[in-house]
Amino acid sequence: MSCACCNTTTKKTRMSCPACGQNCFPVSRQTILHQVQSPDNQRITDGDYAYCANRECNVGYFSAFDSIPKTSLRAFQSGQSAMLCHCFDISESVYRAALDDGTAKAIKAFVVQQTKEGLCACESRNPSGRCCLASFKQMEKAHDC
Ligand SMILES: [Zn+2]
Repeated sequence: MSCACCNTTTKKTRMSCPACGQNCFPVSRQTILHQVQSPDNQRITDGDYAYCANRECNVGYFSAFDSIPKTSLRAFQSGQSAMLCHCFDISESVYRAALDDGTAKAIKAFVVQQTKEGLCACESRNPSGRCCLASFKQMEKAHDC
């Protein structure tokens, strides 16, 4: 499964996080500008930024010259539990519960359908800027083990 938003970022070189060392995917300017809150968004330069997906790590975005903490990101401001799909407001705990009670297929079908129709907003809603469908798969795998 792929969509326009996944195809744009996956091929680029990964960068390693200055705080935790994790290999991180670069993000587009659209993603970072829509995620970082004011006034931090006004100091974003043209440089290449990457997103650190490690939840234990305080770093949100970083470049060779700059680092922006996760607390400055919109996706981490809502006080919600960890999100699986930022576009359609599906948290990991909700999807885990759905996997347990057998209703997960309908939730995923809904997300897949919207994605197919180009109605997802991963590039601005998801701090990684990437499609969430891979995360659904990861959770399904972890659940089946
Ligand atoms: Zn990190």
